[in-house]
Amino acid sequence: HWISFEGIDGVGKTTQASRLAEWLVQHGRDALLVREPGGTALGEALRHMILHDVEIHDAWAEFLLFAAARAELVTTVIRPALAAGRWVISDRFTDSSIAYQVFGRGLPWGPVDQVNRWISRGERPDMTVWLDGQPLTARGDDRLEQREAAYFDRVQEGYAWLWAREPNRIYRVPANQPAEAVSDAIKEALIRRWPD
Ligand code: C5P
Ligand code: MG
Repeated sequence: HWISFEGIDGVGKTTQASRLAEWLVQHGRDALLVREPGGTALGEALRHMILHDVEIHDAWAEFLLFAAARAELVTTVIRPALAAGRWVISDRFTDSSIAYQVFGRGLPWGPVDQVNRWISRGERPDMTVWLDGQPLTARGDDRLEQREAAYFDRVQEGYAWLWAREPNRIYRVPANQPAEAVSDAIKEALIRRWPD
């Protein structure tokens, strides 16, 4: 099974994804935690390039670099793990491109969705946890977090749109509560979905 975590910057995706992976391992499941962009040599190199090294002006260039990292991750890590029966926990996946590059930067949904489908080759998360929280004003961890508040408002609208479209796949958790309460809600959703 595959569970992805989504949401705007600073809502606690990384914390919650690693907590969930630990919990699964404690319960005897073989769980693999990956982050996107990242998780492969190419992905980590692209991540560093996009977030710290190079200024990217064009929205397609930005999307295609994220997409390249994603394609490599699907082929070399996610597919083999799923084929081996492992649980995959991913910190972001294709929904991020819809929220950030389509809603945030204004790319057309159709072609971005198509590229996402091609590079995932039929694989997609069984469940997506959307940590729904207020956009942070410029935490400034990296270049992309330095964009204006209106950009993050659009990204947030993107997530709301995705959730409205696919409420069965996307499980919304309010992020403005203690981390413990958020993890409990996620675990409960998992147990409901996979009772054994
Ligand atoms: O979530 P994480 O910190 O790993 O994301 C790295 C950065 O990349 C964040 O600043 C996030 O806003 C940005 N990002 C993006 N478009 C994506 C995925 C992430 O702009 N599709
Ligand atoms: Mg970040």
